[in-house]
Amino acid sequence: MPESRLFLNQRYTFSNFVVGPSNRLAHAAALACVQGPGAVYNPLFIHGAVGLGKTHLVQAICHAAIKKNSGMKIVYLSCESFVNDFISAMQSGTLENFRAYYRTVDMLIVDDIHFLAHKEGSQEEVFHTFNSLYNTERQIVLSSDSPPKDIPTLEERLVSRFKWGLVARIDAPSFETRVAILKNKALMLGRELPDKVAHYLAENIDSNVRELEGAVIKVTGLASVEKSEITIDTARTAVSDSAPRKEKQYKIEEIRDAVAEYFNVKASDLHARKRNKSIVVPRQICMYLARKLTDYSLEEIGGFMGGRDHSTVLYAEDKIAAKYKNSHEISVTIDEIVQSLKNG
Ligand code: ADP
Ligand code: MG
Repeated sequence: MPESRLFLNQRYTFSNFVVGPSNRLAHAAALACVQGPGAVYNPLFIHGAVGLGKTHLVQAICHAAIKKNSGMKIVYLSCESFVNDFISAMQSGTLENFRAYYRTVDMLIVDDIHFLAHKEGSQEEVFHTFNSLYNTERQIVLSSDSPPKDIPTLEERLVSRFKWGLVARIDAPSFETRVAILKNKALMLGRELPDKVAHYLAENIDSNVRELEGAVIKVTGLASVEKSEITIDTARTAVSDSAPRKEKQYKIEEIRDAVAEYFNVKASDLHARKRNKSIVVPRQICMYLARKLTDYSLEEIGGFMGGRDHSTVLYAEDKIAAKYKNSHEISVTIDEIVQSLKNG
């Protein structure tokens, strides 16, 4: 049973894991679990959104622990496998074996423990497994997409146990970490990513490490098909190919400033009550662009534009949209402002 359970990805090692502010604590704690299993952080509970490296990190613990001590009985599995195993042990009347097995390992790593939600029977089993291992100072490592208290229907006694050791959150990586991850991944594929390209990709993909990886694969793939250097153009193509991205989000302040600069008016006048034509049109353009380029609601835009009503924003939007179609002057104006925003 033991070896067959360690389905590990060979790439998910500590040396392939880029450390940054978003994952530093989780990474340090993972290392500590290898150094002193059961001694420092027990359990180690790592949580974070999907694609931020939880599985990578907990598998890195496995790789390193095996390397350090090949005699150690390490079990790594997804919570789903644990639950399925539990169910089939019940069905086949082999619960004794199941328990003897899980309650005597040296290190138990369960990935995606949030899968326990709404599964009372499995929660009970995890509770007893946890107690046996904890009482004998065996290392327990858990990963989850949310902190213990937010796992739906998780029994209170498990919530509290999961917090006995260290709860470490992984956040979305910062720009610098994203750049480092991109460059690393490219090197693993045998290519070097020019700074400009790495920066471009890191700016345009900002949530999920898995997406960053996808972009690197695409960029290096495109470049090798075309037998060309990796350029910004390659990166643009790769990004536009991947899942449709929202238009770049602008801050409403950026839009206001761009409009004010274009018309050479004071930004504060755009918020003010003045109604002369020289300010009304820029103000309406500002609201129109805020509608097009941000996710703010009508109310929020109205509020920002000096406490105006949502109907005022709607009116401005319609008015400028019509002018954009019918007036060459207005359409050029708006395109130029948008361009200036894009250029930062
Ligand atoms: P999760 O389990 O949190 O959903 P994964 O561990 O599956 O995320 O990570 C998704 C992908 O991103 C994997 O291929 C992983 O190698 C990579 N990854 C995530 N974080 C990092 C990191 N800090 N350094 C290098 N690769 C990372
Ligand atoms: Mg995972």
